[in-house]
Amino acid sequence: MWRFNIISIYAGCGVGEGMGDPQCCADALCRKSYLFFWLFLISISMSLNGIVEKAIAGRWIAGERMEDAFSAARRLNGKGISAMVNYLGEDFTSEKDVRESVKVYCSLMDSARAGGLRISVAVKPTQLGLRISEKLAARNYSALAARARKSGIFLWLDMESHGFVEATIRMYRKEAKRGGVGICIQSYLKRSFGDAAALARSGAAIRLVKGAYSEDESIAYRSRAQTTENYIRIMKLLFRESGRVMIATHDERVIGKALELRRRGRARVSFAMLNGIRNRYAFRLAGEGEDVSIYVPFGGRWVSYGYRRLKELGNSAIVLRSLLEPQS
Ligand SMILES: Cc1cc2nc3c(=O)[nH]c(=O)nc-3n(C[C@H](O)[C@H](O)[C@H](O)COP(=O)(O)OP(=O)(O)OC[C@H]3O[C@@H](n4cnc5c(N)ncnc54)[C@H](O)[C@@H]3O)c2cc1C
Repeated sequence: MWRFNIISIYAGCGVGEGMGDPQCCADALCRKSYLFFWLFLISISMSLNGIVEKAIAGRWIAGERMEDAFSAARRLNGKGISAMVNYLGEDFTSEKDVRESVKVYCSLMDSARAGGLRISVAVKPTQLGLRISEKLAARNYSALAARARKSGIFLWLDMESHGFVEATIRMYRKEAKRGGVGICIQSYLKRSFGDAAALARSGAAIRLVKGAYSEDESIAYRSRAQTTENYIRIMKLLFRESGRVMIATHDERVIGKALELRRRGRARVSFAMLNGIRNRYAFRLAGEGEDVSIYVPFGGRWVSYGYRRLKELGNSAIVLRSLLEPQS
């Protein structure tokens, strides 16, 4: 059983929200977070039976089984939040892995429908075979989209590293005509304003994120400030020109701006966060009547996902804080 609480690791360290002098706490938090970050990397290389990594990932991931994702979804539904469920897995080069993922998604959608859960589903293009061939991925995506429509479940297409963007948008465009699907756009990419404008014109549902992969500065904004600035620029465009926008961020400043600007737009606006980062903030937004989703990954292939969360824009203090903050 790998889902134990990371707070226990820190219990003896005396680190916690609201303890003592804030500046002193922030410094201690920073030092400890770097220590923690390196501990994580070292533990990977030493393969400590995966215990440390699993404890960290367990904060963000519902569990290994589909039932774990359903339990998380049920809890979130109880708080007025929809779960955006993702079966972990990416960068597949084996058709067998691709087939297994598609099968899991099909059974997930059937079971969720039968269980009356309020969920959407998020899939990664390379999990559907995009690294093997675009034709294979498009065929799988189309099959899942049909299944999702039948189950009344909205299907989101995640966006991965830059090399897959063009093909992902092509796959999405073909399927979008039939409805029930949305696509993710990353504000750190310089091309994204143009992509978002073109997609909005064709009525796409867009989930706007900052972007989680390491990209070259020739194609991507590398600083947090520029990425956020572009996020707000794209958000304004989408509020004006698109029908459905999901603001997927934990950034309170951006969310505040969205709440203010959406009044002037025509788009239907919802919010989304990743599980285990700022759940309480998500609950608060939902309590204020906002349409909120939480991205809930499950499955055994948690390393890439956990690593992306850990290196989140190089700010391990934020990551650590999300690990310590109560999430339920
Ligand atoms: C629903 C969803 C789906 C996603 N899908 C994709 C995808 O398909 N492709 C992709 O590349 N990326 C995806 N991402 C990840 C995304 O690109 C970012 O890497 C991730 O969301 C972190 O960026 P941020 O927008 O939260 O802003 P950041 O700039 O990382 O954080 C913004 C600010 O939020 C505050 N903050 C963050 N966490 C905390 C905390 N725990 N406590 C207090 N304050 C905090 C801080 O003030 C921080 O400065 C997704 C994210 C979400 C929420």
